[in-house]
Amino acid sequence: MQRSSGSRVSSLAAELIDLAETYGAHNYHPLPVVIERGRGVWVWDVEGRQYLDCLSCYSALNQGHCHPRIAEAARRQMEKVTLTSRAFHNTELGPLLKQLTELCGMEMALPMNSGAEAVETALKAARKWGYQSKGVEEDRAEIITFENNFHGRTITIISFSTEPQYRQGFGPFTPGFRVVPYGDAAAARRAVDRNTVAILVEPIQGEAGVIVPPEGFLRELRELSTEKNLLLIADEIQTGLGRTGTMFACEHEGVRPDVYVLGKALGGGFYPVSAVVSSRAVLGVFQPGDHGSTFGGNPLACAIAREALNVLVEEKLPEQAAEMGAYFLDGLRKLNSPHVREVRGRGLLIGIEIRPESGPARSFCERLMEQGVLCKETHQQVIRFAPPLVIRREEIDWALERIARVLT
Ligand SMILES: *Cc1c(COP(=O)(O)O)cnc(C)c1O
Repeated sequence: MQRSSGSRVSSLAAELIDLAETYGAHNYHPLPVVIERGRGVWVWDVEGRQYLDCLSCYSALNQGHCHPRIAEAARRQMEKVTLTSRAFHNTELGPLLKQLTELCGMEMALPMNSGAEAVETALKAARKWGYQSKGVEEDRAEIITFENNFHGRTITIISFSTEPQYRQGFGPFTPGFRVVPYGDAAAARRAVDRNTVAILVEPIQGEAGVIVPPEGFLRELRELSTEKNLLLIADEIQTGLGRTGTMFACEHEGVRPDVYVLGKALGGGFYPVSAVVSSRAVLGVFQPGDHGSTFGGNPLACAIAREALNVLVEEKLPEQAAEMGAYFLDGLRKLNSPHVREVRGRGLLIGIEIRPESGPARSFCERLMEQGVLCKETHQQVIRFAPPLVIRREEIDWALERIARVLT
């Protein structure tokens, strides 16, 4: 696992990168590594060099790369039937929905594909619920969201983003959102009026730089929502399914939201699967024809998601994330790096904030890559460490040794 830090991109890698850059839209700025193979916490590039994946596809790989049980479930389903459409029933959908509602302590679920689609679905449900159950005047529903949120990239979702780059050039935007500072429950309270139907919140803001809100924030939002008859919608696409050391990050404050939005690891690293999970009162607003998705709830997606959830529960991945996360966080804090302003996080969702005078986080990510640790900056100054939850202590030690070389 030694590597030289000289010119590392081979002609094959260079050729593949060139193809992507030439024929692909430039909406990403990837590190110059071409991954060919993955297993568990490890990936290999086209030269066979090995890397520890500390990004996990932004938490879509909680179960690790190519988990054999999930691969087997996918293979089995692929040989039976993969697509039916929701015009017909299939054998996998019902069991997945039951499993999801039980896992969340809810009553109904609605499957979609991407995270953004599930967020959109939750917003539609909340608006319709507001009109039908709260008697909000038509086209007046408002939803409270938070500064520095990340909920996806559709036009409606970026309409309430506070990141200028996510919005620049994409207007006109969707009305009906009020944005208040994250962590400030009093500001959320002040933003509530008779048209407010819901609060949409990330229990920890991942993309914003792993921002853990002040203790009590989620509980106060829960109380506010109950008092004012609002839906508390928890976007647990990144924080849910074990990432922060509990099945859902809301559990750290003992909070049960009205709506869970799930995605990423629900697909077990194999397939895009997302879902909105809630009560009959909320998801019951949808009538046949109101909403849909060609691929949502397809039997391949459902078979994969069922096994992805089985693996999370049976391999005790939330507990694993709590234990390994504490170990990793402790190790990172002990590095005593002159470049680090703060190490923060919960479970295996960890952010290292680099001091501005040390330069952008990206240059550290490039050097970590040279050392065999793959991670990615989020915004300018934060490196996110979020390895698959199957990571073991020796592998964290391996990573810490290399992180220490780069940061100290
Ligand atoms: C990734 C993410 C989304 C969007 O999911 P996509 O599958 O990329 O559409 C939404 N919310 C949060 C919190 C996320 O991390």
